Amino acid sequence: MTRQRALILEIMRSTPLHLTADEIFAQARLKMPNIARGTVYRNLRLMEQDREVARLEMPAGPDRYDRTAAPHGHLYCDCCHSLTDIPVVGLVRELEAAIGTEVRSYQLTVHYLCPACRQQQAQ
Ligand SMILES: [Zn+2]
Ligand SMILES: [Zn+2]
Repeated sequence: MTRQRALILEIMRSTPLHLTADEIFAQARLKMPNIARGTVYRNLRLMEQDREVARLEMPAGPDRYDRTAAPHGHLYCDCCHSLTDIPVVGLVRELEAAIGTEVRSYQLTVHYLCPACRQQQAQ
C-alpha cells in the first residue's frame, strides 16, 4: 500500500461522513501538500475495485465515498443532503425469506428529513 493510499483511508476512517473525492483531496493536501488531485481520484478508483471502500451515486451532486464496502443502507436528507448509515440486516433477512434466496448485493437509500432540518421547518 502506498503512503497516499494509506492517507486517503485514514481520512475516510476518521469521519462518519461520506466524503466526495474533492473533500478527500482537500483534507489529504493538508497533510501531504504536494499530493495531486489525480492521485486521489486514481487511488479511490483502485480502492473501490478492491472493495476496500464503496462509491455512492447521489440523487444530487457528486458521488460520495463510503469508508466501508460492507453492506448497509443510507438515510438521505432531501433538505441538507446529509447521509447517515443505517443497519438493514433484519430487512435483508425478510427479503431473503420472501424471495427464497440469498441477496447478493443491494443499494438502499431512504429519503427523509433529518432531525435538524425537521426542527428548522417546525420553527
Ligand atoms: Zn437535513
Ligand atoms: Zn455508508
